[in-house]
Amino acid sequence: MYIIMLGAPGSGKGTIGKEICNKFNLVPFSTGNMFRDEIKRETELGKKANEYISQGNLVPDEVTIAMVQEQLSNLENVLLDGFPRTINQAEKLKEILSKTGKNITAVINLRVPDEDIIKRTASRVVCTNKDCGASFNTIFMPPKKEGICDVCGAPLTVRDDDKPETTKKRLETYYNSTEPLISYYEKEGLLEQIDIDIYSPTTKEDTTNKAIEAIERRL
Ligand SMILES: [Zn+2]
Repeated sequence: MYIIMLGAPGSGKGTIGKEICNKFNLVPFSTGNMFRDEIKRETELGKKANEYISQGNLVPDEVTIAMVQEQLSNLENVLLDGFPRTINQAEKLKEILSKTGKNITAVINLRVPDEDIIKRTASRVVCTNKDCGASFNTIFMPPKKEGICDVCGAPLTVRDDDKPETTKKRLETYYNSTEPLISYYEKEGLLEQIDIDIYSPTTKEDTTNKAIEAIERRL
């Protein structure tokens, strides 16, 4: 079984991916882990990838794809997260799998309204006292006194990374690169769109169940 996970940063993709892995006994596969593994084992491809990564450059597609091919050849049941990122990679993945008579089972896309992601990210507040570093969430875990740290009494602030403008930009970048992939998998008939209400107290269970049902329909 080969499942691909898609979802914007802040959609809970990692959490739901873990649940799917547990349910179907899948090995989680990410390019980050793959690069670390190949670099640690000092394989030829690992050395090549390290040249790019250590200089802060993106690893070229042909190196990434060669690695994916090598690693997937030993794995039967996999959940892919962060690969493919482009149509080219998606086509290569299809080729790699079909050579050994394998197919992608489903592509799970977690959909959360942008406003929800922006609001939830901006609700994280951290203590401005560097020696304290406590964090709160104005929606899910508010401090006793608004804007003040429970632990040390210093003011709380929203990290630059969590501010609405930054989150909006991050989402834009994500959509620009991922929208083509979503259309591609829709045409391939593999796409399962799962809408998420991140404010529901049972969102994790609900989303997990929807994803599992979607996969089971395809088995
Ligand atoms: Zn504090």
